[in-house]
Amino acid sequence: MSQAVVAKPSKPAVCLTKLFINNEWVQPVEGGTFEAYDPATGDVIAEVAAGTAADVDLAAKAARKALETGPWAKMDAADRGNLLFKLAELIQRDSRELAELESLNCGKTITDSIGDLQGVVNTLRYYAGWADKIEGRTVPVRGNFLSYTLRQPVGVVGQIIPWNFPLLMLSWKLGPALACGNTVIMKPAEQTPLTALRIAELAMEAGFPAGVFNVINGFGETAGAAMCTHPEIDKIAFTGHVDTAKIIQRATSETLKRTSYELGGKSPNVVFADANIDDAVAGAFHAIYFHGGQCCTAGSRLFVEEKIRDEFVSKLAAKAKQRRVGNPLDANTEQGPQVSQEQMDKILGYVELGKKQGAKLVTGGERVGDKGFFVNPTIFDGVKDDMAIAKDEIFGPVVSVLPFKSFDEVLDRANRTNYGLAAAIWTKDIDKAHLYAKGVKAGTVWVNCYHIVDATTPFGGFKMSGHGRENGEAALELYTETKTVTVKLG
Ligand code: ADP
Repeated sequence: MSQAVVAKPSKPAVCLTKLFINNEWVQPVEGGTFEAYDPATGDVIAEVAAGTAADVDLAAKAARKALETGPWAKMDAADRGNLLFKLAELIQRDSRELAELESLNCGKTITDSIGDLQGVVNTLRYYAGWADKIEGRTVPVRGNFLSYTLRQPVGVVGQIIPWNFPLLMLSWKLGPALACGNTVIMKPAEQTPLTALRIAELAMEAGFPAGVFNVINGFGETAGAAMCTHPEIDKIAFTGHVDTAKIIQRATSETLKRTSYELGGKSPNVVFADANIDDAVAGAFHAIYFHGGQCCTAGSRLFVEEKIRDEFVSKLAAKAKQRRVGNPLDANTEQGPQVSQEQMDKILGYVELGKKQGAKLVTGGERVGDKGFFVNPTIFDGVKDDMAIAKDEIFGPVVSVLPFKSFDEVLDRANRTNYGLAAAIWTKDIDKAHLYAKGVKAGTVWVNCYHIVDATTPFGGFKMSGHGRENGEAALELYTETKTVTVKLG
């Protein structure tokens, strides 16, 4: 049995986990626990050690020591890269087991979890390659001086991640942070605390020195909040809800920590009549229903040109009715449960609100079964821009169809949101495609495709969808300080 998860004698079916600090499995100082669920059944699958401020303090001290003394501080950049390559290799080796644990705890289909794991491996390999390529510059300064810049780690980084892509979000944060030489305290979401512990185990097997990577499970309001105020933590990287980001922004202001945020969205997905309609239907379907709509980039505002609207909605509804919703560990399942009872109730609440505010429910809008947290694919037609279902991030399989007539009208309406994470357009007209890509306020724009995200391309939000860009070379900016060195010559 893995050391990360040990059997608890009194309840054999339920495991008790530990915290991972300084390459050791430790009990939380205050001894608290919380339960992790299988969202497909609602059953408890693990009792999880809950870290609090005292544990964050221990992790911060270990991470500080690793940063400033010991092997990590002295390690060649290429060797940091080699450790990341090794970690990627071990994750690849254990990817089936990790994918199953991810599906069990998060509810995503096994097919999607396997896809996520490949993304994790790709991301870690991509940043492993960067480790010895993070260079400064020589600067043509005035006078008889030599000026050059050094790129150095920000320091101890607190990384607070969400439940929708537990391992992928971990890799987006861990990869660049370690490539740049930082040390990390990871705080997984309380809904999905398990897979990060297996990564900790693999990091130890890969040979990362003590204190470089620490995992503190626990609640946002306790463990997460303690990270945001701890004086030894230099930066917080956060992915989650915009309201939480506002709390973190305030909490980190006292110590003026560096922060980066990847937050929510209400992404406009625009379909013109000149598009390949069947491709656009399949794309719009994937845009909203991938992982049960629990994606910050979900194409939840579906703008359809008026003249194809009826045909489009009826084709989309036909597909929605056929979607196989069920056990995420069954390879034939296309959509698993929502992550929690709370999320399911929130989604069903929005369905009621949509009906009450006058939108037409075309299909779905119901819980599936009476066990687990399943919601069937839902389509609302005739939605108005000011309805709650068109404005709020629902984070579920609910799409709002918004008809439009002209390019200028739809671009203006697409931008009428506080969010700006992603956007898409379906058209054969390259003028429309590029004008939309230029004009829409979003960090990612897809033309005739959706949810194409790669380790190599910057990802992040305009407006209230975030600060900074993850992935690609851009993420190195989030994890380095630039130092100018000036030398008097002669
Ligand atoms: P969601 O609504 O999707 O659960 P949250 O923003 O609440 O999104 O959660 C994302 C992550 O933020 C989780 O790891 C959670 O524990 C953490 N979190 C929640 N509240 C706080 C807080 N006050 N300070 C720091 N982290 C928090």
